[in-house]
Amino acid sequence: MNSGEGRASALEEAMEDLIEKKSYCTDVIRAFRAAIIARNRLVERLELDRMEPWKPDEIKFRGGLPIIRQHGLFLEKDPWKEIADAMIPALQEGLPHLRNDLERLRTCLDNGSIDLFDYFKAYADEPETLLGQWAALCDADPLSVGLFLNDAARIILAIRAKEMAPVIEGLLWEKGYCPVCSAFPMLSVIGDKGQRRLHCSLCGHEWRFKRTLCPFCEYEGQAGMTYFYVENEKNESVFACERCGRYLPTINVADALTGFNSDLAAIGLIHLDFIMQEQGFQPMAPCVWNRF
Ligand SMILES: [Zn+2]
Ligand SMILES: [Zn+2]
Repeated sequence: MNSGEGRASALEEAMEDLIEKKSYCTDVIRAFRAAIIARNRLVERLELDRMEPWKPDEIKFRGGLPIIRQHGLFLEKDPWKEIADAMIPALQEGLPHLRNDLERLRTCLDNGSIDLFDYFKAYADEPETLLGQWAALCDADPLSVGLFLNDAARIILAIRAKEMAPVIEGLLWEKGYCPVCSAFPMLSVIGDKGQRRLHCSLCGHEWRFKRTLCPFCEYEGQAGMTYFYVENEKNESVFACERCGRYLPTINVADALTGFNSDLAAIGLIHLDFIMQEQGFQPMAPCVWNRF
């Protein structure tokens, strides 16, 4: 067994464990198991061309301008076809109701009527219009097309975030959105000294952030900010801000030792997503598992 296969089976085991311990995750894991494995495998295996040596504008960065708005993180020569060939069947496996939509999307990609890179070329400007056009062209629900594009973005950004991490190490970043890709966090992890780290919902980068501040609206103060706990689960909580109405699932590091996978950790907290959304709060980052 090579190390890639070893990691894939460790991931599968972690998913089985999650289903066993938290049966409410079963449907989400079943739906996304193949996609999670395929995505992680691509992140491990793909070797992207390295970017030209580059340094961010430190003043703009400190002011809150993330890497993706200073420097393109997607390249035309990135392995778009390989990503589509692996991810579309993986999504189809767990989401049979989207199978036909995804098949038509695949046909459009294969026959060249759409070029995946066109979407990523315009990525920093939020290319929602293009997504709508593609959905119409492929006769597919925009949600199906968006699901695939989100996975493709996550794969490339996860690899580039690792490349960019040393470049921004030591630079001051005080924002609640990701310093690499500008997405909001899907998870917060409290370390043993009480420090809080946010985990990006898109590229997986993690960064330190003040515990008393709302990552979404930067509100700071006791009034209107709460950590909700569920009985018997002292290591799991939700940060909620009444000012912006957003919440962020949170775990203590005790639960996050070896083999920590932030997707699985976040999926393990979907019972908290249910509770918070029933109370009218919105997640800081929409993820495939927290849209009810
Ligand atoms: Zn990010
Ligand atoms: Zn807020």
